[in-house]
Amino acid sequence: MPLEPSLAAEIESAVAEGFADQVAHTQNLVRFATLRGAEHGCQDYVFEAFRARGYATERFAMDRAALAAHPGSGRIDERHSEAPIVVGHHRPAGQAGRSLILQAHVDVVPTGPLDLWRHPPFDPVIEGDWLYGRGAGDMKAGHAANLFALDALSRLGLQPASSVTIQSVVEEESTGNGAMAAHLRGYRADAVLIPEPEDEALVRANTGVVWFTVEVRGKPVHVREMGAGANAIDAIWRVVGALREVEARWNAERTRHRHFETEAHPINLNIGRISGGDWASSVPAWARVECRIALYPGTRAADAAAEIERAVADFAAGDPFLAQSPPVVTFNGFMAEGYVLAEGSEAEAVLGRAHERATGRALTSFMSPSYLDTRVHALYEGIPALCYGPRAENIHGFDERVSLASVQRSTVAMALFVAEWCGVERKSALRG
Ligand SMILES: [Zn+2]
Repeated sequence: MPLEPSLAAEIESAVAEGFADQVAHTQNLVRFATLRGAEHGCQDYVFEAFRARGYATERFAMDRAALAAHPGSGRIDERHSEAPIVVGHHRPAGQAGRSLILQAHVDVVPTGPLDLWRHPPFDPVIEGDWLYGRGAGDMKAGHAANLFALDALSRLGLQPASSVTIQSVVEEESTGNGAMAAHLRGYRADAVLIPEPEDEALVRANTGVVWFTVEVRGKPVHVREMGAGANAIDAIWRVVGALREVEARWNAERTRHRHFETEAHPINLNIGRISGGDWASSVPAWARVECRIALYPGTRAADAAAEIERAVADFAAGDPFLAQSPPVVTFNGFMAEGYVLAEGSEAEAVLGRAHERATGRALTSFMSPSYLDTRVHALYEGIPALCYGPRAENIHGFDERVSLASVQRSTVAMALFVAEWCGVERKSALRG
């Protein structure tokens, strides 16, 4: 049942009242340089923030054996984070409404060269409507919004009338294993909302992602005998050419995939890192590229991985040097399928009403050619998995920033969503 207009207006004011604190909390989150594997301090801060509000709060290590046994987990290498997952649990007095998971990740992608930033990346500077910083948009603003949407209800003496679990995860940017670990821990709900920076729109479909590394070994000789030496860097570049053909082939198949037909280039192969050789005057004996490629929903990640391995092997078989020293392909991160959010769910209708009330516009949806943790809940829990959040710019780039007006609007939409989806009850004196 749609919310009473008077309650909706009160919720809107309650978000406004708490917004200065919400911005300060978001800035605190940005100050933690939560690069992969360095999220511990931030998760401690989050743990305290959940606990201080009376949520039953737990912190647990990812169960690596359980992860390894699940086909949707990412591959674990030495760079995998060991930071804990933090979960705050709200238990209602009754259990009237529908339960909800509010999830967000704290890990951020590397900064790149610091001299390309206007402000240091972990210094949360505000200029006009924009809050700057690595992770400000992706997704510390959404992380804070989860908490402050519930705070807004609390300020009115209300709380959700059903279970709400707030999850703070890591590894979203490299394996998806944080969200998977929370799933494997047994957390379930009737819907999930993840406020990634989606420009106040709803993600309808998103791609899966596979990470892999290709390594080539050459034969080191002096450059004057270069004709006799096999240059590993030249050779790996030829392999990249073969991978670009896989990318082109998959893009050509887009017309067969709903929500992808009109995208010019839904499948992106990123050659993200290259290393090789030892110095300028030896023919390089080794080279390595680290890659990421997208896949359509419905394509099994293992099948995509097998196709990549086959393409590299076929190419190498026809190359005079690589036939003698075949490239080695290793999968070392994401092994994730995409998903399509089914249209017409009640959760989407509730979010649509909340969004319209908060923004004055109808909710739109779109395809995102990227990885999202919502896929864990969509694929393995079969629940409506809503990815919806504020407007940000330059995520994964330089001068990442998030619009504070948009954060406030999305927080109102989220609080209205929680109130209608979960129902509200008077806040009890005892919680947790
Ligand atoms: Zn994100």
